[in-house]
Amino acid sequence: MNNRLRKITIVGGGTAGWMTALILETELSRTSAPKDRPKICLIESPNIATVGVGEATVPRMPKTLRQAGISERAFFRETNASFKLGVKFCNWNTDAKGNRIDYVNPFAHGQLLEGLEPAEYFLRFGNGDRDYTQSISPHDDLGRLCKGARPLGQPEFEQRFGYAYHLDAVKFAGMLTKVCTKHGVEHIQDEVTSVELDEQGNVSHLMLEQRGRHDVEMVIDCTGFRGLIINQALGEPFMDYSDYLPNDRAMALQIDHPDPEKIESLTRSTALGAGWTWRVPLYNRVGTGYVFSSAHRTDDQAADEYLEWLGDSGKGATPRIIPMRIGRVRNAWVKNCVAIGLAGGFIEPLESTAIHMIDHAVRWLTEHMPTRDIAPSLRSRYNRQMDKLYDEVLEFICLHYRLGNRTDDQYWIDARTEMKIPDRLAENLELWQHRLPMPHDIEFATLFDYRVYQTVLLGKQVYDTGYGPGIRDRLRPLKKPIWFQWWKGAKVDLAQILKSMPDHKTLLRDI
Ligand code: FAD
Repeated sequence: MNNRLRKITIVGGGTAGWMTALILETELSRTSAPKDRPKICLIESPNIATVGVGEATVPRMPKTLRQAGISERAFFRETNASFKLGVKFCNWNTDAKGNRIDYVNPFAHGQLLEGLEPAEYFLRFGNGDRDYTQSISPHDDLGRLCKGARPLGQPEFEQRFGYAYHLDAVKFAGMLTKVCTKHGVEHIQDEVTSVELDEQGNVSHLMLEQRGRHDVEMVIDCTGFRGLIINQALGEPFMDYSDYLPNDRAMALQIDHPDPEKIESLTRSTALGAGWTWRVPLYNRVGTGYVFSSAHRTDDQAADEYLEWLGDSGKGATPRIIPMRIGRVRNAWVKNCVAIGLAGGFIEPLESTAIHMIDHAVRWLTEHMPTRDIAPSLRSRYNRQMDKLYDEVLEFICLHYRLGNRTDDQYWIDARTEMKIPDRLAENLELWQHRLPMPHDIEFATLFDYRVYQTVLLGKQVYDTGYGPGIRDRLRPLKKPIWFQWWKGAKVDLAQILKSMPDHKTLLRDI
């Protein structure tokens, strides 16, 4: 008997639900004939709003759009998108003189010099008053530039510089709805009121408010923080990360561009008293928010702090409060249900990783695509893969807090000293006092490889503020001219790129 899956039901119409539909549809139709592949249907409640934030992405996104056959230009127009070249961290650390440090974690990393990392040379010789990012990226001020000009859609450019997008989350879900339904995904606007299980504990039916009983073969839970199926119906435990990460609430506001002609091509993360704010500039507006710890601020206190930071832009506004469930379900795939997006878990949005994680979760699912009698080994390998992804992101986010050095608020002291960190990060932090991060220190990296760790260590200037004392004396001998010649070359490179490049706003307007 043919045991192929005939139907996959996705519940939830936020970014997770529609990205899941898009990637499943794209991947399955790329490799199989229509009669052989499961039908995809997406059920979305017309009454329950999406979380409506999640507007900064990482460099996997251009590829995802390309693979799905979505025109990058159409995407820009429909989602008011802008280019993102990295994240600027403001005020997270202070330098040896106690001054505030701002540094960029760029998507671009320098080429090797005589087989060694630019970071080693930088740590050894420095670069005048230039910080590490300014030294490794072939551009002086990432914030003023946009590298997306001519190369729009060209993979060579993407490989060299790497770029991602800022996008309007609601419009993005709207665009994906159109694309997916055009490709045959069935869209049901109805609310799931209850979930029925069979004797083996698999989800057999969903009860819909309007349409009644909906048969299920395999279901993807994309219902957001409520985890309607994975947690509520299947009872899969939630692993809380509050021992690792202090922030459990956010507030958000959309504001106008202070100067509409200047659109920064970076996400900004600015440390405040009990957390950090995001600033995500789109073509037509700026998305902002404050991610904070309820153990250190009430909502009112946080709102005061946040509105003060916004200045005139936030005058008279009331930010929307978003409670955050930080952690993950123990297993993302249980019985015939896979939880993707916020239903599966969420690590605070400091590095804009959630959409990236959704992307990987769906791709891995297509690699482990089961038949109707799901092989347990598929499920368990998929779950182990998701474990690694969560560990990767958790470790990298913890790094930012553990290596912070602010003492002006109890929050920052607690974030550094009271929070747990994963064992592997603890071991690496011990090691990196003696040398910089190397490739084999990070065994699994979809996004945060050793170079990104180098950038954070050097960006925060930890080797000048007490971490790894005397490390420079212990570095291998290096030839100084190699470094400075390389840097001179990078500057020439920059000048050439700049010559042919419009500014970010002009470029976006042209698109
Ligand atoms: P939701 O958007 O909550 O969607 C849930 C869907 O389920 C809705 O369509 C709802 O109608 C439906 N639903 C719920 N119950 C039912 C039911 N009973 N019947 C039918 N349908 C139902 N990610 C990034 O990548 N970058 C960022 O910069 C970023 N910033 C963030 C900032 C904050 C403060 C937060 C909280 C998250 C951020 N994220 C970010 C994460 C990102 O927002 C989410 O991963 C993404 O939006 C996916 O959400 P979702 O689709 O899982 O859930």
